[in-house]
Amino acid sequence: MNYTDFLKQQCYIDGKWCDADAGGTIEVTDPGSGKVLGTIPKMGTDETHRAIEAAEAALPAWRAKTAGDRAKLLRKLFDLMIEHQDALGELLSREQGKPFTEAKGEVAYGAGFIEWFAEEGKRAYGDVIPSHAADKRIVVLKQGLGVVGAITPWNFPNAMVTRKLGPALAAGCTIVIKPATATPYSALAIAALCEMAGIPAGVVNVVTGSAGQIGGELTRNPTVHKITFTGSTEIGRQLLRESAETIKKCSMELGGNAPFLVFDDADVDAAIEGAMISKFRNNGQTCVCTNRFYVQDGVYDEFVQKLAARVSAMKVGYGMEAGTDAGPLIDEAAVAKVEEHLKDAIDGGATLLAGGKRSPLGGTFFEPTVIAGVKPDMKLAHEETFGPLAGVIRFKTEEEAIKLANDSEFGLASYFYSRDLSRVWRVAEALEAGMVGINTGLISTEVAPFGGVKQSGLGREGSKYGLEDFMETKYLCMGI
Ligand code: ADP
Repeated sequence: MNYTDFLKQQCYIDGKWCDADAGGTIEVTDPGSGKVLGTIPKMGTDETHRAIEAAEAALPAWRAKTAGDRAKLLRKLFDLMIEHQDALGELLSREQGKPFTEAKGEVAYGAGFIEWFAEEGKRAYGDVIPSHAADKRIVVLKQGLGVVGAITPWNFPNAMVTRKLGPALAAGCTIVIKPATATPYSALAIAALCEMAGIPAGVVNVVTGSAGQIGGELTRNPTVHKITFTGSTEIGRQLLRESAETIKKCSMELGGNAPFLVFDDADVDAAIEGAMISKFRNNGQTCVCTNRFYVQDGVYDEFVQKLAARVSAMKVGYGMEAGTDAGPLIDEAAVAKVEEHLKDAIDGGATLLAGGKRSPLGGTFFEPTVIAGVKPDMKLAHEETFGPLAGVIRFKTEEEAIKLANDSEFGLASYFYSRDLSRVWRVAEALEAGMVGINTGLISTEVAPFGGVKQSGLGREGSKYGLEDFMETKYLCMGI
């Protein structure tokens, strides 16, 4: 099958492909070519309400299946995703802009969540607790928490869906998904694959359209017991506020501002490899992307020089073109943010070492950029750039580096390079972050708990902790 076979221009509700009630549509643009890829239904409150009803109706039968039976269906979904990896990768690259190889990597990573949770669902163990009274026995059950509302962003159109879908379905929950309007096709393709896998109608529903209306209904409707969201801190805060009315459980994967520390005792070449992947993967548009580099005096010059050389050699291009390292940014606002942070730093005295301007390709293509001599009070050290701009700040002592790294309201990912064992422990424990990459720039995997502290979010995705987030704990007290 070809990517166009998966380009579904309708929504999936209660096992049926449908248009918006009022017939409205929204155009979806390929950010690389600027051309329209297709349209999606402009749905709102009523359609979302129906999707929630469908998820509620499907819940008893889905919940009643054994974890093993649910796992068989999820395994089929995983197999289909891998079988169609190329087509799904092309669809993803075209709607999002990332290089085809990265897009295929995302499909494999996304499918990994389905496979892993299919198995982990079988291990949703409870407890038997030694009783406090001779005539009572205490048992703890884990049960799927019901209908889930999921809202996903544009930077990982496939994996951000599966990271929620996998554990939800494995736990016995049903789900209504609202993908980002900029990149809805990967989510709709996953719905098509759920249908092909034989997952019953109503268990998975995908609704596109008005974020305010769909999000509003998902948070307002008392049938929805959980909201799981990946996106900006601002919208996360709003969803939490809206969810407070009906006391929903919430998982929030929000903004980051990842620091990347390189100490004098680091392997600098390894740090450069880590820097490239943590900063420039998906063109700087991941929530765990390094946002600020702090490099110690002794290795500072070597680090900036080597980083600039590597970044200058990156090939900017269309995602489907072979050899592309950096695709377009998602939209014009994303480019404007990179330019704003760059200008602020240069005006404040930072030095440009690589890139620094829009690419001759036009559109939203921007040259991967390195600047040195960045100061801790500049914008790029405090706001998430979400683009291909690497700013390097010099530091002298470990204490100073930790203080600078923690000087943020965010706490998602952090990275550091050191070969001193004592320092590794000290720094790892001191960093205020949900995830710490030590001598590595790549930390995402379905087997580990992904999530943030501070204003980077609530809850964890992936691993046994990720399943926990879709389950309720029920305690049975039995008199005997
Ligand atoms: P990003 O910076 O990744 O675009 P957003 O938080 O703006 O982050 O968007 C993430 C997801 O949240 C998208 O699916 C978007 O459509 C959705 N979204 C935006 N505004 C709202 C809202 N008011 N209610 C619910 N969802 C929203």
